[in-house]
Amino acid sequence: MVGNTQPLRIGVLAFQGDVREHILVLERLGAEVIKVRRPEELASIDGLVIPGGESSVMDKLVRLFGMYEPLTAAIAAGLPVLGTCAGLIMLSNNILDAMDDQKSLGGLDVDVRRNAFGTQIDSFETNLSMPVVTKDPIAATFIRAPIVERVGAGVTVLARLDDGRIVAVEEGNLLGISFHPEVNGDTRIHEYFLGRVAASRELQES
Ligand code: GLN
Repeated sequence: MVGNTQPLRIGVLAFQGDVREHILVLERLGAEVIKVRRPEELASIDGLVIPGGESSVMDKLVRLFGMYEPLTAAIAAGLPVLGTCAGLIMLSNNILDAMDDQKSLGGLDVDVRRNAFGTQIDSFETNLSMPVVTKDPIAATFIRAPIVERVGAGVTVLARLDDGRIVAVEEGNLLGISFHPEVNGDTRIHEYFLGRVAASRELQES
């Protein structure tokens, strides 16, 4: 079967955070990228990235711009989404240490604790093993990162820190990671995501 040869069209949720960095990586990998701020923009994309930033601010802006319902509907309909750091928090069904009033979009059956490393070590880099994504270690940058403290039965754990804490998960078409793959020039996580987006597009077209 000959697959669709059109470039994948990827949206980056563009209210706040590392929007530009994700766009650069995705374009480098050959995707056509748009910034997403309006409901109608969701209709034209094959996949969405929710970047790192500050989840409580992103949540406020999502609701202010009338994007809460459209985003939860798109997630429920199976849109592939990569959420990194604050984006993982946005995708989790339950936020621990949330700000008052803070809501997530949900979709991933996990509990995620915000700012799980405290203020003493709020940023660090470490090598992670992620065998589903790549056989070589990934240098992962954590910035005021969340940790996944509970995973539901349908969730696959993709990476853990040496002490066992979970920092990458996937469930259906949703991929959530605690760290920032867009900051150090390593494109393997985005490549993995684009592979999943392509598979999802082929399934829809067949
Ligand atoms: N601590 C931030 C939050 O709660 C996440 C940090 C990040 O995305 N780098 O949203």
